Amino acid sequence: MPADSGDNQPDMSAFWMPFTANRQFKAEPRLLSEASGMYYRTPDGDPVLDGCAGLWCVNLGHGRLEIADAIHRQLMTLDYAPNFQMGHPLVFEFAKALTKIAPPGLDRIFFTNSGSESVDTALKIAMAYHRARGEGQRVRLIGRERGYHGVGFGGLSVGGLVNNRRAFATLPAVSHLPHTWDAGKNAFSKGLPLHGADKADELERLVALHGAETIAAVIVEPVAGSTGVLPPPVGYLKRLRELCNKHGILLIFDEVITGFGRLGAPFAAQALGVVPDIMTTAKGLTNAAIPMGAVFVDRKVHDAIVQGPEATIEFFHGFTYSGHPAACAAGMACLDIYLGEGIFERVAKLAPVWEEALHSLRGKPHVTDIRNLGLMGALDLSPRDGAPGARGYELLNRCLKAGLLVRYTGDTIALSPPLIVSEDEIARIVDILGGVLDEVA
Ligand code: PLP
Repeated sequence: MPADSGDNQPDMSAFWMPFTANRQFKAEPRLLSEASGMYYRTPDGDPVLDGCAGLWCVNLGHGRLEIADAIHRQLMTLDYAPNFQMGHPLVFEFAKALTKIAPPGLDRIFFTNSGSESVDTALKIAMAYHRARGEGQRVRLIGRERGYHGVGFGGLSVGGLVNNRRAFATLPAVSHLPHTWDAGKNAFSKGLPLHGADKADELERLVALHGAETIAAVIVEPVAGSTGVLPPPVGYLKRLRELCNKHGILLIFDEVITGFGRLGAPFAAQALGVVPDIMTTAKGLTNAAIPMGAVFVDRKVHDAIVQGPEATIEFFHGFTYSGHPAACAAGMACLDIYLGEGIFERVAKLAPVWEEALHSLRGKPHVTDIRNLGLMGALDLSPRDGAPGARGYELLNRCLKAGLLVRYTGDTIALSPPLIVSEDEIARIVDILGGVLDEVA
């Protein structure tokens, strides 16, 4: 078994990397081999400031002993128990504990193992809800252009990123709202952009086209993340909520990124003052120490499905690892940290510092827009002639050499540091980015 190929690199041929240019990466690998607090370390020992919380998920910083200890203890007490027709005490305790930070009414929780599974679960709950109420013809799902809802067939169908969709068949009854970004009117907005609430009115057009009685749910990210951080226009989410109410359509917020403190409240629903019927989460739920997702469901939706003869399974859906004991233990430890360290309040306090720091990059070469909300942010760069994405990729590599991990999609650079980031570290992120922007041709 060759452990390495002779130059201290592991043999990389067997691992088919997700969402990666495999051959390009393997020709010039970027490896991270250790992490603690706000920093990764490369195999050469170089520190790398984590500007992305891994992949929007390590909200509490790396190497949290409390989480590792809780997982270890749980594995030695009860490593696994099925939750199909059986149960273990911790999963009930954890679900109950999560309801304490949930938006009002969303106090029924279905566990999954990822954001994608949470999304597909939520879409199925929406259809099951309407069917249980005698409206089984409501199967149409409405997503949004530039949305990202993971890679299951449900999530990819309601998602709106063309590269994720073009090679695959998608669900038949799916429509999309327009995305909310309007560079002409909103470029360099701080926080929520002022223009575009009327984009929610497109839902009326879809209702007029398909009939409200065929539509099960609308799903949106409160702040579109993976497409490059698009905060919702002022009033947009409220308008969507009103229209969904008017037409009996369920509103799903995909809070896989915005959940667990990213916007300075437990969820975007609280930060932005609009409560959906169903909320999908993952990532920060366990600080990514162990995979887990959770779908928060309004009690009326749950109760409509969980009825009928008591001996009958009400919802034919679930995963072998739904509510895995080790993941529940990790989640409990995270919840203690979120609440014990006042993480949500901390983010709310830091958000204006983050905003000012990011917007100080306005005027740097190639920067065409800067967006921010909570501790999320993004910069758009003008693409290089004939080579879209090349400038973003160069920026990623140069930042890494300078000791900063950023995320790029095309020519957009996204930032979402762990929520324990200090003001000095925010300054450092912006300092490195500014220096690299000056260098990038
Ligand atoms: N939904 C949103 C909003 C996401 O940002 C992501 C991942 O980034 C997902 C769903 C999918 O999550 P996962 O990669 O855990 O399946």
